[in-house]
Amino acid sequence: MTQSDLSHEINRRRTFAIISHPDAGKTTITEKLLLYGGAIHEAGSVTAREGSSHTKSDWMSMEQQRGISITSSALSFEFDGHHVNLLDTPGHQDFSEDTYRTLTAADSALMVLDAARGVQAQTEKLFAVCRNRGIPILTFVNKMDRPAQDPFELLEQVEKSLAIRAVPLTWPIGDGPDFRGVYDLEGKRVLLFERVVRGRTRAPVSVASVDDPALTELVGAEQHAKLRQDVELIEGAIEPFDPEAFLAGEVTPVFFGSAITNFGVEHFLSRFVKLAPCPAPLHTTKGELSPEAPFTGFVFKLQANMSKHHRDRTAFLRIASGRFERGMEVVHTRTGRELRLSRAHTLFAQDRESIDVAYPGDIVGLVNPGVFRIGDVVSVSKDVHLEGFPRFTPEHFNAVTPRDVSKRKAFRKGLEQLAEEGVVQIFYPTDGARDPIIGAVGQLQFEVFEHRMNEEYGVDLIMSSTNYKVVRWLAGEPDNLARFAKHVEDDAGRPVMLFTSSWDLDYTAKQHPELEFLPQPRDL
Ligand code: GDP
Repeated sequence: MTQSDLSHEINRRRTFAIISHPDAGKTTITEKLLLYGGAIHEAGSVTAREGSSHTKSDWMSMEQQRGISITSSALSFEFDGHHVNLLDTPGHQDFSEDTYRTLTAADSALMVLDAARGVQAQTEKLFAVCRNRGIPILTFVNKMDRPAQDPFELLEQVEKSLAIRAVPLTWPIGDGPDFRGVYDLEGKRVLLFERVVRGRTRAPVSVASVDDPALTELVGAEQHAKLRQDVELIEGAIEPFDPEAFLAGEVTPVFFGSAITNFGVEHFLSRFVKLAPCPAPLHTTKGELSPEAPFTGFVFKLQANMSKHHRDRTAFLRIASGRFERGMEVVHTRTGRELRLSRAHTLFAQDRESIDVAYPGDIVGLVNPGVFRIGDVVSVSKDVHLEGFPRFTPEHFNAVTPRDVSKRKAFRKGLEQLAEEGVVQIFYPTDGARDPIIGAVGQLQFEVFEHRMNEEYGVDLIMSSTNYKVVRWLAGEPDNLARFAKHVEDDAGRPVMLFTSSWDLDYTAKQHPELEFLPQPRDL
């Protein structure tokens, strides 16, 4: 393997995640992308919601029962000479922590909007995370086969609520029952939509320009006139797409389509692989690490018991630089320990394939013998550490205890492992007498926790809500904390206080100016 082979592999990698509000069509688009990428052969093998078969990325029984995806998995496929890695992020708003973390492993994001609903609450939240990371964002306006909002209004909404310039690369011709296809503004051709056969599209038709009389025949006189008007407006009022501004996160290219009928997905994919960036340098405490440097990877997600057939723990590693080889010797830089990466899997949800090599941008699952934490680095050099890894401050707090006291050992193990994955955060009362308190970003995380404790560790829980609403870590090591009833410790033994309201927090802060309260532990 020469350095130029490595560059070639890096340059053809595209690692991205889809962000959207639940129901906008993320699962459907994922399925269609996999279909075009040849990773699956039949539409319907991914989507759980509509019936018999279930999503490759939905592997837990609870997800199947609820029809939502809870965990993130990485799916990969080849398209047009590119190697695409799609990080599947859960769409439900209660699983945001996991989603946020997954975005740290992506080089770009696809924002999927429902054409009738436009920008929704969850889209805004996820968008903010991408913005924070500075990754480029593409937009796909889905469900054009249903009555949609005016496309100009949709663009304006994106610009106003997300503060990013939106430049259309395709333009819809009609919507709902009158949806005729899209006009490719770059290639000046019409991609015709045919409703009859589900999931099939007719070949694109090239036209010389939007004034081409052939268009009238293709889409009808009324639609043609409307399209001509729209294109004139776009060309006059919207500045042309600037790839540099896109890579800088200032502009989002917008595509229109209908994922359920496959329409617009292949065209999107063919533009995506050309526009989206290859793996970016890693931000480390010592500056940027180029993907061309010797091997380094970081753990962005942990998960226990991924399937009933493999009861083990998996650490998801994103390769940041160099070539990964199974069995290679690396340093686990947080502990300084040497490790041999001998059991690596790429994860295509339930099906695991053991892999031998991987390149920057790729995700490999490593069986985790308990050594990995989120944000950990493995590298051929000893001294690589991430510059910071987002963690989220819980807003919901429940007390938990096993229903059957003889299950205490399994209870502890489950509690610790699931906390390590980030399903919940644990807070231990310092007097040792009371039950631990678990904290989550959203309520549904508690249900996931309860379900998994039961399924995977055989522990039935008694869970009771508490009055706490706010958590703060304490700076330094203040004495005499025992006088506070709400004083607890996190799983690393750091002093923490729980409050019933932000008023309670402010009051305590005023009464005790000697204490400094932090929304996150300082030494993550
Ligand atoms: P997710 O929650 O974002 O993953 O959304 P899904 O992909 O599960 O889609 C939500 C619902 O919208 C499902 O019933 C889909 O069949 C439907 N859907 C997805 N894409 C389209 C589309 O392009 N047109 C129409 N009419 N329905 C769609």
